[in-house]
Order: sequence, then C-alpha cells, then structure tokens
Amino acid sequence: MDAKCVNCNMRAEFNIEENKITCKRCKLEIDYDDYIEQMKEKAATLADDFQSSWNRRGF
Ligand SMILES: [Zn+2]
Repeated sequence: MDAKCVNCNMRAEFNIEENKITCKRCKLEIDYDDYIEQMKEKAATLADDFQSSWNRRGF
C-alpha cells in the first residue's frame, strides 16, 4: 500500500503486516500511529503558515 513520506514527501510504503511506514528514499521507518501523528502535525503547521501569510497580506 502506498503512503506519502512525512520526511521527504516522496512515495513511501505502508507495510500492513508490520504496521509500519517505510521510505526507501530517505530510509524513514516509523510505526503507523507515529506516521499519523506526524501527518497531523504537518497539516497543522501548513495551516498555520497559510493563516499567517494570509494575515500579512491584509485580507
Ligand atoms: Zn522519505
């Protein structure tokens, strides 16, 4: 199963049997739960960035 690497944003692999995300490109290997947590944090950070740049433009 495909997943997106939280580290390099390339295609990573979700190993269902081991419940792990592995990325061949940057050698990332994390548990699925950690992966979800990091994805959430990334999304929150992106939302914050968007919000602050939006505010700077004065809209
Ligand atoms: Zn990666």
